[in-house]
Amino acid sequence: MKSHLRVLKFGGTSLGDAECIRNAVEAVAKAKSGGPAVVVVSAMSGVTSQLLDAATHVTQGKPKMAEDLSRFLLDHHELAIQTLISNRNVAIRCFAELEQIVEGAACLLETFYKDKGLNPSALDGLLGTGEQLSARLFAAALQDRGLNAVPMDASKLIVTNSAHGNADPLMDQSRDRILRLVPTTLKRGFIPVVTGFVGATEEGLATTLGRGGSDYTATIFGAALNAEEIFIWTDVDGVLTADPRSVPEARTIPEITYQEATELACLGAKVLHPKTLNPVSGKQIPVWIRNSFNPTASGTRIGAQRKPVSRGIRAVTCRTDVSLIRVRTNARDQFLSQAVRTLAAPEKAIAQFFPSSTNISQDELLFVAGTEEIEASMRLFDNFKALAPRQMGLGNPQIDTEIALVSIVGNSLDSGTSRRALKAMSRSDIQPRAEVQGLSKNNLCFVVPQESARRTLAAFHREFFENTGDD
Ligand code: ASP
Ligand code: MG
Repeated sequence: MKSHLRVLKFGGTSLGDAECIRNAVEAVAKAKSGGPAVVVVSAMSGVTSQLLDAATHVTQGKPKMAEDLSRFLLDHHELAIQTLISNRNVAIRCFAELEQIVEGAACLLETFYKDKGLNPSALDGLLGTGEQLSARLFAAALQDRGLNAVPMDASKLIVTNSAHGNADPLMDQSRDRILRLVPTTLKRGFIPVVTGFVGATEEGLATTLGRGGSDYTATIFGAALNAEEIFIWTDVDGVLTADPRSVPEARTIPEITYQEATELACLGAKVLHPKTLNPVSGKQIPVWIRNSFNPTASGTRIGAQRKPVSRGIRAVTCRTDVSLIRVRTNARDQFLSQAVRTLAAPEKAIAQFFPSSTNISQDELLFVAGTEEIEASMRLFDNFKALAPRQMGLGNPQIDTEIALVSIVGNSLDSGTSRRALKAMSRSDIQPRAEVQGLSKNNLCFVVPQESARRTLAAFHREFFENTGDD
């Protein structure tokens, strides 16, 4: 049974300054009047990147960055406290707490400087500083508004594996810990203000859930507590049909399924951390994406069901952090199915490594891989090549990083969709390098030269969203 609980997560821009925080506080007050609420916060915008920057600089022997960072963090948060919090005692107590946290960060940076290196767990500890600060600040702002609130450190509640920098929760242990603490806090009438993004291993070593991971924190808590709904407050109106920076005509998608939203996130849409929906899709807890700068917009509902609509295309999206790998072969078709089975098997670590068909050359095999994972992908390929029959005549791979993967995401996409996409590209003089197959029925991806990425998005958007009157 679902509880009447709501989880509200605020992203960095929604906490960007005192004014934004005030709006967020009002959103919480409104939610609280309808039932219990748990709040999850990101760091104030820009803070996590500054922390990462400082860590990199001090390990390169530039200790001054540590001082600059402490000053920046204190000034930035102090300004927000002064503007937001009218009760002097609350303000003083809050600032003292923040000072202590900043001191802790400065100590960590000092060890990085002395050791000339980054211990992954200590780095995760440092990167979580922004959330430690914003959770205390936000709880104080709620208290000042007359609401009972208490900051809560997710590193004590979310138990993760030891993949520092990109950890995954161990759900059973995390649920036990969350259920031991949160319901009693709620019963006492308090709003927990949880630090997003952070966790810790069973041994207590700090971890983080990956950049943008506070979304994931919200759904981990939502799933553990069987929340009725989860609200992700951000700076766009919802999930859009395209990134509005590339396609100004993009519009909000009112409803989308968990799977479509996950694929969109994996294929480049920035609106959600790609793992966000894993904890809640099985439980069918709806996730709303709402704009805290435009609170009257109804946002996007991500859920299990969508009313059937005439066309199955939800959005277009693009990744530029991928590379194209080309390999010569004498027996492409024979190789292709085998490669799909071995290289693109879901249990393989490199999820982005998938074979593609090519419209250009029959004696070449094309792969797309995340540029960051290119070495691991090549190792995987080498193992495959070592076992492949000689008559395949596999050549040495050529890597092209100047490409983009432009994708159409929706349900039941078919060869008709592909034909329309190819026609739209040809009308705009865009030469696709390959059409990627074998990922899922929910997307269709094309490899294009990186400089054509924006034009391809615009051409697809025109074709699928602007030409016809229906949705
Ligand atoms: N503050 C972290 C980041 O910037 C986590 C988050 O924003 O969700 O990546
Ligand atoms: Mg952030």
